Amino acid sequence: MSRIQILSPRLANQIAAGEVVERPASVIKELIENALDAGSNQIDIDIEAGGVKLIRLRDNGCGIDRDDLALALSRHATSKIHTLDDLEAVATLGFRGEALASIASVSRLSLTSSTGSEAWQASSEGRDMQTTLQPAAHPQGTTVEVRDLFFNTPARRKFLRSEKTEFNHLLDVVRRQALSRFDIGFTVRHNQRVVHQLRACRNQREREQRLAALCGPAFIDNALHIDVEAGPLQLRGWIGLPSFSRSQADLQHFFVNGRVIRDRLVAHAIKQAYRDVMYHDRHAAFVLYLQLDAATVDVNVHPTKHEVRFRDGRSVHDFLFRAIHKSLADIRPQTTLRQQDPPAAASHAQPESAPLQQHMPLAYHQPGPAASERQIENSIAAYQLFASQPQPASPAAAGSDIPPLGYALAQLHGIYILSQAEQGLIITDMHAAHERIVYERLKTAHAGSGIRSQPLLVPAAIAVSEKEADMAEQHHELFSRLGLTIEKVSEESLLIRELPIMLPEAGVEQLVRDVLADLITHGQSGRIEAAMDDILATMACHGSVRANRQLTVSEMNALLRDMETTERSGQCNHGRPTWTLLSMTDLDKLFLRGR
Ligand code: ADP
Ligand code: MG
Repeated sequence: MSRIQILSPRLANQIAAGEVVERPASVIKELIENALDAGSNQIDIDIEAGGVKLIRLRDNGCGIDRDDLALALSRHATSKIHTLDDLEAVATLGFRGEALASIASVSRLSLTSSTGSEAWQASSEGRDMQTTLQPAAHPQGTTVEVRDLFFNTPARRKFLRSEKTEFNHLLDVVRRQALSRFDIGFTVRHNQRVVHQLRACRNQREREQRLAALCGPAFIDNALHIDVEAGPLQLRGWIGLPSFSRSQADLQHFFVNGRVIRDRLVAHAIKQAYRDVMYHDRHAAFVLYLQLDAATVDVNVHPTKHEVRFRDGRSVHDFLFRAIHKSLADIRPQTTLRQQDPPAAASHAQPESAPLQQHMPLAYHQPGPAASERQIENSIAAYQLFASQPQPASPAAAGSDIPPLGYALAQLHGIYILSQAEQGLIITDMHAAHERIVYERLKTAHAGSGIRSQPLLVPAAIAVSEKEADMAEQHHELFSRLGLTIEKVSEESLLIRELPIMLPEAGVEQLVRDVLADLITHGQSGRIEAAMDDILATMACHGSVRANRQLTVSEMNALLRDMETTERSGQCNHGRPTWTLLSMTDLDKLFLRGR
């Protein structure tokens, strides 16, 4: 080995750049954060060749003093925090003081800035990264120009993808930032062509326009606005209707105090909240903003600040779950009908993903129930849907008295119920709707009667890690509330003694392992409930009206009235819509009828 030497500033910065500057997208993220921290309200971005040749960002923020320009380009120099206390409650997006130095070490960077009067341009050269300054012309604000990214680090350069791919990554970052701050105008040009021109939003309508521009118009047509506050926690934003589920987790944006975040705890809480209304392999769409006291989140846990650590993760998880779960449960026909353009009806808003092709013919539903036939029949018998009392069935009733889903007119091919509502014609998939109603009732009944368990003839022994065994012991109470009696019999083994009647013995070992893994990573788990819900869903599917069953008009009306009062009745148990509206306007358009 040779003698120890201090690294040159450039090399030290290049090493630091390894962590934060992966590709053009990482550069733009740092530059936008700086512009936001500087209090800008307009950010203009010019890109050439996917960002490899040029990334230029101009802002109209506070600018940098001539004397500070050299510092801005050196490592561990920041104007944003001064003490450890500042770091603990940091409100700016940046705080490490190394982004500009890192980027400057792997590109040709110039920084031009003015705080109001004169303007100066700085760049850093050589292995010592000496800063040179020269007078420039610039209005108040800052322009950072990054040319020839990775020209001096060939290894990094090799990892870059095509111009198009790099630009898409970069655009993703800009879009997320534009979603994080509706009050800021953004323009993006690629190879001199305008790609985005987003004006600062002044009201909710303009915010929704930006949302439509960034997430697609179908999203806003198929999303619920949410605004929930609980103590120091506040959640705002939009959540996609379950029927707008996606095949990829590609429309999920989460911001914590304005910061773009990817967080497992957050993802888990949201997934749980959607669990009951969406197929397991589908993904929810959402754009959500969580605000909480900065001192209760640690943002200094990841080099690119993509992750955070919540001081009280469990209550954040709980809050997110409850807020979203409740909003989803409240979706009734009247919720969606109140929106101008009912989601299920707007033809242009057909979600990319609604797996309508997979909609099996109703008669072919054939899930393998785990509960005995008799159990199913008993449960169904207890909740027979169709009330025998006659229902008001007068399509001609006065407008204001028409219930949201209207009055039944007829049944179509034994599958759909047609009804006349205030806004037009409503078409209801009777099997899907009934399935949801029966399912919700089974759940309520199940919750009311408590979970009954039965002892296993031969208790099942499972080998686990020490940590898992401790976890099982610690959460003994939780397991028994869910009908599972589990005992720790040694450092590394558990004995399952009792199971909920509903759960089959076969999968229980895996279930317990999965629950323990959840408890270890997330501090909680909803798997047992999920497994039981799955079984109730199967029972509901078996117990609901099949296709080709003729219903009387009053039976149809009874079903519609039930839908109006049932939680989550807007979609079936698999997240498909249960009804849709063909409004008078839609019909007029179909018939080219002007009014
Ligand atoms: P950090 O953002 O973590 O402080 P950076 O290396 O990104 O570190 O920036 C260093 C410093 O340069 C910032 O603290 C800030 O004072 C200044 N700066 C960078 N970009 C801008 C900008 N667009 N407008 C005003 N000041 C800036
Ligand atoms: Mg910064």
